[in-house]
Amino acid sequence: MSGEARRAELAANLERVRERVAAACAAAGRKPEEITIVAVTKQYPASDVRLLAELGIRDIGENRDQEAAPKAAECRDLDLTWHFVGQLQTNKARSVARYADVVHSVDRMRLVTELGRRVRAAERTVTCLIQVNLDPDSEQGVLGPRGGADPGDVPALAEAVEAEEGLALGGVMAVAPRQGDPREAFDRLKTVAEELQARYPHATVISAGMSGDLEAAIERGATHLRIGTALLGNRRLIVG
Ligand SMILES: *Cc1c(COP(=O)(O)O)cnc(C)c1O
Repeated sequence: MSGEARRAELAANLERVRERVAAACAAAGRKPEEITIVAVTKQYPASDVRLLAELGIRDIGENRDQEAAPKAAECRDLDLTWHFVGQLQTNKARSVARYADVVHSVDRMRLVTELGRRVRAAERTVTCLIQVNLDPDSEQGVLGPRGGADPGDVPALAEAVEAEEGLALGGVMAVAPRQGDPREAFDRLKTVAEELQARYPHATVISAGMSGDLEAAIERGATHLRIGTALLGNRRLIVG
């Protein structure tokens, strides 16, 4: 596909997503300006990041360090906000600390201390969202690991993030379980977010909602949507 054709396709997709966001906001009595669209560009090239930036997207999400690190480097001139949204192994904290502005998947103490150490070494600051596991049926999700801390562990993790110089507590993130009504899951997330905000008023981010459930997320208070497929197209399945 030519660059022009791809640009037209991305523009049309973005227009549709913006329409969905506007409609969901209208239904929920919210303003579209309250919502940040994070374009999840995993499996798509840096050239798509560039086109999205030209179309007005400022927030880019990635879920694998091996892919994100070179892409962020290639797009450094664009001055975008990079969101790391995937499960983060401790041994990748050093690399992620160099380019990520927001890490959505902070879910354990070890990761907090390691990220803090690496962020300070890089002389940067990183905003951390505590990822919450919303799947009550299983520790790891029905269809494999999805990550996330138990809701009861959020206060201790938040306190640890606040205590690490270089890390800023931004709020919470979750992925709705594949089974069940996403609104119920996002309701639980909202409760966790409200409890967190009572203690840390600046922790206002609720990262919830993907291509399939963004309306439910907006209805239940999401501030950040992580949108891949609806913007960029279907990804190939990666096994393992
Ligand atoms: C891939 C991914 C998304 C985007 O999902 P889509 O359904 O393609 O919009 C959102 N969040 C996380 C954590 C992801 O890994």
